Amino acid sequence: MATGYAYHPLFLWHDTGTSAALIPANPMAGVQPATHLEHPEFKRRAHELLHVSGLLRELMIIEPGRATRAQLLRVHTHGYLNRLAQHSRLGDGDAGDGHSPIGRGSYDIACLAAGAVIDLVTAVADGDITNGYALVRPPGHHALADQGMGFCLINSIAVAARHAQTLGMARVAVVDIDAHHGNGTQAIFNSDPSVLTISVHQANCFPPDSGWIHDNGAGDGTGSALNVPVPPGSGPAAWLHAMTQVVIPALDRFTPDLILLAAGFDANVFDTLARQSLTADAYRQITSLLTDAADRLCNGRLVATHEGGYSFYVPACVAAHVETLAGLPPHITDPYATIVAGYNTEPLLAHQRAVIEQATQLVPTIPTTAPPLATH
Ligand SMILES: [Zn+2]
Repeated sequence: MATGYAYHPLFLWHDTGTSAALIPANPMAGVQPATHLEHPEFKRRAHELLHVSGLLRELMIIEPGRATRAQLLRVHTHGYLNRLAQHSRLGDGDAGDGHSPIGRGSYDIACLAAGAVIDLVTAVADGDITNGYALVRPPGHHALADQGMGFCLINSIAVAARHAQTLGMARVAVVDIDAHHGNGTQAIFNSDPSVLTISVHQANCFPPDSGWIHDNGAGDGTGSALNVPVPPGSGPAAWLHAMTQVVIPALDRFTPDLILLAAGFDANVFDTLARQSLTADAYRQITSLLTDAADRLCNGRLVATHEGGYSFYVPACVAAHVETLAGLPPHITDPYATIVAGYNTEPLLAHQRAVIEQATQLVPTIPTTAPPLATH
């Protein structure tokens, strides 16, 4: 069956302004205006590579619709949505942490981004596609119920998880492979055993002091949040070890009805905002492990949404990911393969193995009791 692809030009029109990389410009404090790091270019290039490589022809194009207010309210507060909408009309302000600017129309575009993930989930539920990928801006996985952060306005993947539950997919697993902790998604579901959140990320990167191993759910959700904070400098060996020793066993234990993937690509070797060294081939292998798990556990149902990724290497990584989702042979050879080959040879190091081993020990604590069908 088909792989869906949800994209819209408006995603590139989300205006993050003239920040100096990730902090607001402030000339009087010596911060010269520049370009915000969450700018459209790398996602535009990713879309164009999918087109130029011929991959788009192999995918089922899903024209996204906008998430409704009711769908957003399953995750976010009235007050936050009102504030976002108000600032969006004016094209000013920040969603919460000073790193997440709101441009004119950004609220509407964020609603469309959440709608893209929702529409892929619906298409999976209807059997129109097996899996899918949403290439969206703004990203979502740092956004909390009542504030945005880390460039994120609406937590699209959390909204999509709740939407999935209304369609009868009661047990949803969210796997987050962005280089930064999926803190917003974890916080939203931290006490909810019906949604397993797993985040593999660089330790103590963003948000600071977040996503440690001991931070693994609360109340009824104790054990249903799993964090694998890999050390700075981790590459394919460590990430694949984390996947095979923690993420996949966790999915096998949880037996989800749907896997959602927060597909950040900022653990790539050239990225500005993390110190990881994944290659396009590593993303191919990670995706393959996840599609195999989805085939085994939930009839292949997997929906991925784009999160971070801030280097020219992102399009090659996206192409490898999408090809693997679609079960296709490579349409384009990684043009950087010979350059990144040297980054790809580091063996699993002892301090990386030790962290992953700690996370492995939490897999048996993941709740397996089937929750009642959610009524969110
Ligand atoms: Zn990130």
